[in-house]
Amino acid sequence: MSQMLTLPNNKAIDQFLKDRQNIPHLEHILDDLITRYRHLDSLNEKGRLKFGDRVTSGERADTLFREMRDLVLNYYHITVSTDPKIKLQQKRGNGLNISEEDYCEGCIHIVADREVILKTTLIHGYVHFLVEEIYGYLEEDFSCLEEGLARVISEEMGTYLKDQTGNPAYEYDLLEDALSDIWECYCWLTKLLKRNKDSSLSRRYPFELTYKEKKGLKPDEYSRGNSYFKLHSHLYPSINLPLKYLSPPSPTL
Ligand SMILES: [Zn+2]
Repeated sequence: MSQMLTLPNNKAIDQFLKDRQNIPHLEHILDDLITRYRHLDSLNEKGRLKFGDRVTSGERADTLFREMRDLVLNYYHITVSTDPKIKLQQKRGNGLNISEEDYCEGCIHIVADREVILKTTLIHGYVHFLVEEIYGYLEEDFSCLEEGLARVISEEMGTYLKDQTGNPAYEYDLLEDALSDIWECYCWLTKLLKRNKDSSLSRRYPFELTYKEKKGLKPDEYSRGNSYFKLHSHLYPSINLPLKYLSPPSPTL
């Protein structure tokens, strides 16, 4: 366990985000996400994305989890000897109404889904488990960091899986989430900092605007956390922030 690294709480992340100079960087990030998403979406419409069969058995989910666990541990050079439990439920409900997974006390609850989606959702849940292993239980005050980290690690692994398998479906859902996360944050910050939205981005943004986006209301922890990590890597490309948090330097070596 490392006490060396100071983790940013939600307030610190909001402070980081509320900077006028972030706006052009967010626009750059959005431009890239829109281009990538639209490309995947056109493949999807032609039925060219293969999401695999729906995973309905707990054993299959366990097997897929172990594959994803080994992938993450190898990719980030982490050693962790314990595993979370995986509880697959067939339908939404029991706290899984909006989200596809919920991590709580060593257990990843997950809704049955097609294999490709289930795999990256398992990675999201596994990041929550790893954070708890490394830092202990973090309070709600660190939810932006936790959700942002889970989002960016699953995106990074989705890209890795796409490259390994040649199947772009691994990036589809994750890009959709990323795009709406960053867009929501952009709407909030342009309102807060009294800037106009870029009209060509607004035209190209592929989803219908939500009430929150229209009003420029403060977005949720997924959106702020994801925007924090994406802005950070855009501003400081030499610092691998996700890796820094997942694999903090050991204080006792
Ligand atoms: Zn999460």
